[in-house]
Amino acid sequence: MIPYGRQNINQADIDAVVEVLRSDFLTQGPVVQEFEKVVAVYCHANHAVAVNSATSALHIACLALGVSKGDLVWTSPITFVASANCALYCGAQVDFVDIDPHTYNLSVARLKEQLVQAEMAGRLPKVVIPVHLCGQPCDMEGIHALSQQYGFKIIEDASHAIGGRYKGEPIGNCRYSDITVFSFHPVKIITTGEGGMALTNDEQLAKHMRLLRSHGITNDALDMQPRPPEELWNYQQIDLGFNYRMTDIHAALGLSQMQRLDEFVVRRHVLAKRYNEALSSLPFVTPWQHPDSYSSYHFYVIRLKLDEINKTHRETYAALQAAGIMVNLHYIPVYRQPYYEQMGFRESYCPQAEQYFSEALSLPLYPLLSGEQIDYIIDSLESILFTKQS
Ligand SMILES: *Cc1c(COP(=O)(O)O)cnc(C)c1O
Repeated sequence: MIPYGRQNINQADIDAVVEVLRSDFLTQGPVVQEFEKVVAVYCHANHAVAVNSATSALHIACLALGVSKGDLVWTSPITFVASANCALYCGAQVDFVDIDPHTYNLSVARLKEQLVQAEMAGRLPKVVIPVHLCGQPCDMEGIHALSQQYGFKIIEDASHAIGGRYKGEPIGNCRYSDITVFSFHPVKIITTGEGGMALTNDEQLAKHMRLLRSHGITNDALDMQPRPPEELWNYQQIDLGFNYRMTDIHAALGLSQMQRLDEFVVRRHVLAKRYNEALSSLPFVTPWQHPDSYSSYHFYVIRLKLDEINKTHRETYAALQAAGIMVNLHYIPVYRQPYYEQMGFRESYCPQAEQYFSEALSLPLYPLLSGEQIDYIIDSLESILFTKQS
């Protein structure tokens, strides 16, 4: 079986984890801080807050930006459910902005139209969460310009995109956003097992997110409420936080993986190029890359030209699975999920997302995918999808 994604763990990663296991701190120790520092420096961001998942990072990012009951958060429908769920955790409502048909990222033209309508209705979003799908950055300059005009905040869901670049600068530098979130789940670009990180250039936001990841507790005397001097107050809970901390065991793996981040992304590009060359003559749309972007190539998504093949989307998926190739679909539009459907979203809510949903497949792509495996995938695609006779 060829999975659609998998981690790449070497001896140095294993040694780094073992070293923490033999050390004084398994959690709340120095390695988490070191990992945060290395990611912040890599991304050219001032602050990095490590947590136990990107889902947690999205949650505390929303809270730090003040998202609460009655607020609206907008995101792309073509994303993992966590990009939208974070708003619901805060009691806010979610709405979706349809995708661009070329990049499959949230469409800035559509965002603009929706903002005009929302302003008239008095229902502007508090936060917009663009998602760098497959690691290809969104049009952040365009989204940022609209945020200035309409007064919303921006969280980049860069769960796919560490190691990518936008206009030559690293994703995560928050030049066009308030907060950027990464995921370190094993299928992502680098891994900590489970883990995530929130980056920001705003010291107050960073401080607030640090508080929220650890119960809302501070031990900084400057942040504590005055109490009688004879009482022993070595910490105070000043907000309602969570236990979203990353352990030093996880951070050691992430820190070690950071050394190979660029290598991983380069390898993904080599494999994507190989797919591009082999698939351009077949009835697929291969991933289009905006000239402003250097993708981390988390996924290699093809779109089936269904009128040129003799199988349905689902049959193609099943035939590839039967051939031992674990293709996947990233993603089913979030509003089509039963949980969202019962909030009243219509089936045809975002036409471009619907079209994408009916045609897209993610082919296996990860650094350890071999040349023989990729040839096997390409050969299987060819034999499964012989072109219709006309
Ligand atoms: C993986 C993913 C998440 C959630 O990441 P976890 O670290 O598993 O919580 C959020 N958003 C997107 C776009 C993702 O791909």
